[in-house]
Amino acid sequence: LTLITENPLIQSPHNLRTRRIGPNISIEVHVRVDAEMTVRASHQLTIEIEQRLREVYGPATLVSIHVEPTKS
Ligand SMILES: [Zn+2]
Repeated sequence: LTLITENPLIQSPHNLRTRRIGPNISIEVHVRVDAEMTVRASHQLTIEIEQRLREVYGPATLVSIHVEPTKS
């Protein structure tokens, strides 16, 4: 999870699920971002997380990220 929380804009990762699908790994995680963050910015964050996870677990890794607003 440090891989995900490295970025200070990403908070409270939870519901992390990893599964093996044949030779590949599927990763599902929920993260929270500032509720005022634009869709564009939060989407960019999910792309960064996906890229980082694929660097670690391989390019065929299936990544599913759910973005939620922080509770304030
Ligand atoms: Zn959640």
